[in-house]
Amino acid sequence: MATLESLKQALRQKAKATASCSTQPLSDAQYSAGFDVLVRGSGWMTYQGFIIPQLSQLLAPLFKSRIHISALEIGPGPKSLLGYLPGCLRRKIRSYTAFEPNGLFATRLEEWLCSTSETESPLPCLENPPTVHPIPFVLQHNMGSGTSTGTGGNDEKYDIILFCHSMYGMKPKHRFIERALEMLVEWPQGGMVAVFHREGALHLDGLVCHRTASFPTGVISVANDDEVLDCFAPFIAGFTMQDVNVDKAIRVDWRKVCLALGRREKDHPSQLLFSSPNVMAAFTKHATALPELTAQVPLVKGDKTLKTRQARLHRPASIVRPTEVQHVQQCVRWALKHGVGLAVIGGGHSGHCLWPNVVSVDMGAFDQVHIHTAEIDEVDSASDSSSLVVAEAGCKTGDIVRKTMAAGVTVPLGARPSVGAGLWLQGGIGHLSRLHGLACDAIVGAVMVSVDSSQILYVGYVPSQHRPAGAVRLENESDLLWAMKGAGTNFGIVISLTFKTYAAPTYLTRNWVVPLSGNLEARLRLSDFDQLVARKLHRNCSADAYLYWEAGRLHLGMTMIESFTTRFTFATPTPTPVDAIWGPEDNFKVVDGVSLFETEMYVSSMHGGHGGGKTSSFKRCLFLKSIGEANVADRLVAAVESRPSPLCYLHLLQGGEAVDDVAAHATAFGCRDWDFACVITSVWPRDQDGTEAARSGVQWVYNVTGDLLSLSGGAYGADLGPDPRDAALATKAFGPNRLRLARLKQSLDPGNVLAYTCPLPKETMKQKLIILVTGKSCAGKDYCAGVWVSVFIRCTHKSLTARAVSISDAIKREYAAVTGADLSRLLWDRAYKEQHRPALTAFFERQARQRPRLPEEHFLNVVYGAEDVDVLLITGMRDEAPVAALSHLVPDSKLLEVQVQASEQTRRIRRGCHGGDIDGGDNKDNNNSGSSLTALDYCPSLIYDNNTTGDEAAKRFSEHYLLPFVDEDLQRLANMVRQSPNFPRPSIEYRHVLGISQQPGGLALCTSLLQKHFTGGWANVKAVACCEVGGFVYASALALRVDVPLVLIREAGKLPPPTVSVIKPLSHMSSLASNDSKEKRIEMERDVVPRGASVVVVDDVLSTGETLCAVLQLLNEAGIRAENVSIMVVAEFPVHRGRELLRQRGFGRINIQSLLVFSGA
Ligand SMILES: Cc1cc2nc3c(=O)[nH]c(=O)nc-3n(C[C@H](O)[C@H](O)[C@H](O)COP(=O)(O)OP(=O)(O)OC[C@H]3O[C@@H](n4cnc5c(N)ncnc54)[C@H](O)[C@@H]3O)c2cc1C
Repeated sequence: MATLESLKQALRQKAKATASCSTQPLSDAQYSAGFDVLVRGSGWMTYQGFIIPQLSQLLAPLFKSRIHISALEIGPGPKSLLGYLPGCLRRKIRSYTAFEPNGLFATRLEEWLCSTSETESPLPCLENPPTVHPIPFVLQHNMGSGTSTGTGGNDEKYDIILFCHSMYGMKPKHRFIERALEMLVEWPQGGMVAVFHREGALHLDGLVCHRTASFPTGVISVANDDEVLDCFAPFIAGFTMQDVNVDKAIRVDWRKVCLALGRREKDHPSQLLFSSPNVMAAFTKHATALPELTAQVPLVKGDKTLKTRQARLHRPASIVRPTEVQHVQQCVRWALKHGVGLAVIGGGHSGHCLWPNVVSVDMGAFDQVHIHTAEIDEVDSASDSSSLVVAEAGCKTGDIVRKTMAAGVTVPLGARPSVGAGLWLQGGIGHLSRLHGLACDAIVGAVMVSVDSSQILYVGYVPSQHRPAGAVRLENESDLLWAMKGAGTNFGIVISLTFKTYAAPTYLTRNWVVPLSGNLEARLRLSDFDQLVARKLHRNCSADAYLYWEAGRLHLGMTMIESFTTRFTFATPTPTPVDAIWGPEDNFKVVDGVSLFETEMYVSSMHGGHGGGKTSSFKRCLFLKSIGEANVADRLVAAVESRPSPLCYLHLLQGGEAVDDVAAHATAFGCRDWDFACVITSVWPRDQDGTEAARSGVQWVYNVTGDLLSLSGGAYGADLGPDPRDAALATKAFGPNRLRLARLKQSLDPGNVLAYTCPLPKETMKQKLIILVTGKSCAGKDYCAGVWVSVFIRCTHKSLTARAVSISDAIKREYAAVTGADLSRLLWDRAYKEQHRPALTAFFERQARQRPRLPEEHFLNVVYGAEDVDVLLITGMRDEAPVAALSHLVPDSKLLEVQVQASEQTRRIRRGCHGGDIDGGDNKDNNNSGSSLTALDYCPSLIYDNNTTGDEAAKRFSEHYLLPFVDEDLQRLANMVRQSPNFPRPSIEYRHVLGISQQPGGLALCTSLLQKHFTGGWANVKAVACCEVGGFVYASALALRVDVPLVLIREAGKLPPPTVSVIKPLSHMSSLASNDSKEKRIEMERDVVPRGASVVVVDDVLSTGETLCAVLQLLNEAGIRAENVSIMVVAEFPVHRGRELLRQRGFGRINIQSLLVFSGA
């Protein structure tokens, strides 16, 4: 389908070729008529599907951080884009200005904005009538005297400035954007300039964007009607002819051009379709910060030639080439400071190592490969060699294979020598995968620059001489090492990787090519290939198939590659299952790892060997099983038949064996269960890059992946990027690990510095309430969990989904796999399980010793395995103080522990009855003696006494204590917490919890919830204690409400004596906001609370817990014992692990309740 841009060129060409007379600009009426044609019908889809949602997403954080918004729109046309934002955003706009040079549009725009006839006006909260200037927006300073923007002065400032509709008539575009940047407000985080532009490329030299998005699939449909085309064609060409007769004649020609280039579809023959890709680029005042970076880090010399043409079409803001690790750190610091993203170049094979208006970091200078003889005991190694390889991030596959081969070893990598780090960081499928696993499986350590702190980190095993000076080991390194194995481009800029190695093999390669007579034969051959050949092969052998079209026929090609590490001599290869079906191979070769690169069928023979050489390609990869089955085979054949260029083909790389030996959740590369990786490859002659042919090749790949997706078991994450067509594939990448990766992305790249890699889901888990149901064996945990699930589900007005899951099932599964025990009996047969209990417990303890983070892994697996439910109840926990230990792993969910208690006698009776726990027997008791709370060194959130029979009491308990956690008022309260990005430091997303009190009704709502949610009973409370300043606000209002006196805790020296005081370290926020590291003292009046009285401490926030620890120490000094204290906070930030700190400091037994939980600062 031709683009509007190519239509424009063709129309202009036609006018030039056929008419020599002068052109004239469009009148307002002509422009308006053409514009109406453009946005009518499917043109509006671009607004609905791209512009409006992107704008809403972009502006939401900015609008949330402001009470009032002032907006300037440049060239909005007859309606404001801002008028289509969601109501909550539109209502924030209090002042509106526009420059609209088309007089007709300006009038219509003004009428629309001032309209009172519609149910709600588009911008209903404007404080003054909109100002619409019917003149162009110009570069005031560059146009000489007498020209002005018409803004009435230079000092007008805006929160948001929008360039709508492709910056029509503005050249050079970057100068206009720079002018707009000067007009942004400066406080508190500055505003934003957003540009929407048709036709992809938006060249803005030297400007760095804050965010970009693209819509490559935009389509404009135009009625194939003379009158409509006569409006549309001049609008696209941008002029009419001065001479009336010439103009008449050219319109006839232009109709023909439109007809020739427009695509007609069977269903809508009267419409002409044109492709209209759109982009959005948003800039902040940091857009001009590039010189600051280029002064510190070397630039790439000359033109950077990248393997992929796709990337070459993207014009980056700049390409820097660090030569030392400190340069990479400088890049990250610069990106964090200015709130912009970075792209990274490894081998340059993906389409997004360069991105428009983004700085790319070329790792090419880090090109060393080191062979290291390891003390191999230190490294988990199933390899046959005691060598490790440290490969720097700028190395290519060929570099590593060549260097390691010289040392007699190898690393399982991919099939092309020029591919770089992107391959081994995202998976790495090659001819040794079936024998040794994926490239990422061989990673044992990594060095990287954190994109959160810019620190140099190392994880796993990195030989000491390859750790850069200043490199630190990450605290929770196992998470990061796990993520590096399959999703390693998302979390930091990798400097080097350490791989385990295997003995370098020799390869025997054989090729067969079978011309196919038609679909039926194709299906039969694929089935034979799958069933009779591929499935029969030993793991040192892999069989790849190629489905392609050549010489007017469909062909099936097959390459079999066998690897040997023993010396072997032969004149002819041993027979294979293929010989019996297809006869002897067309050719065979014995080669080493380097020569193997040249034996690939698509390089050596197919299509004359790489389409004759000068080609470009685009690929996406899906994982398939049973390729010979009719439903799969038919679609594969249909895919090749629909190819837009003769060079397109499907490449099926065999998997299984060592790829599948690794459990899906054991590494980030979660798609393990497949027989073939199907690479859908579009190839076109290089001189057609950027043309219609290349675009339809790319679209073919997406069409085929779309068709095969439902049959596939996953998608290869490598090469997926910001193109929205990749989104559906990205949801299938990483198997069950997506949400765990999303959580890691949030914590390791909170500023989204690496924004142009394989997209991970942004949405947090759906679950907002996770209840850990703990207690001794046979206390009735599973029974209660079942009752509570039914209460949540029946709470019909909320239509919640709830599920109970036993966490111990995971260990039973592992135990069954290792010992051969019957899993279903372990899960459901009490007597059988009792029989296995000692062995199961010993197994768990052994595993926990070897894998110290096993409980966390199991917890996360259960949580992510039930991501579809609103309320998750987990039984079978073994951890002490599980809320303190685990809440940071699910920082967006409210985590509670309900301990089910029952007397010894009740439990004895239940042992053997149905009401007991299915897995109670293997559940370690959470305490060693008695069942009273005081025997624990921590306090569960709630305790349920389960000594009665029947479910009535359990139901009443949940209605009274559990349902309030899904109360809509809590959500209302959460909505009142304004977010403020990059405050008080870059990459911190500040939540203004204290700001609830500034919202209408906020303080009342908050205090009523604090009162209602307190589980201790207000009648016994003798005082509400609070520390300035956040605590004062909520505690005073609460104290008034529950009629209890306040205990005020202030900075030392501000209360009259006698007082007691303690040292208080800086709170989390104060330490972020100031460089003053001094501790302070806090104090309270002595004897203000009677000894033995119950006190509730109220604060606005629990983050690191330092403030609350100091408050508790102070209360202790004042003679108030911990068992008489409870804590209520408005909001908790579990990532900072405040509960754990309180527990470590001896305050574990204090009940801590929070109304809201938030991830982030
Ligand atoms: C011709 C060809 C052959 C291929 N053959 C195979 C194959 O046999 N097996 C296979 O599994 N795949 C194969 N692929 C897919 C390949 O793995 C991906 O294209 C991969 O992304 C390429 O990595 P790169 O470093 O060459 O590309 P780049 O475009 O430079 O990088 C790819 C991604 O990795 C990121 N990245 C690169 N370096 C770093 C770093 N140091 N730190 C953080 N992020 C980084 C980049 O930002 C980018 O997002 C092939 C692709 C092509 C085009």
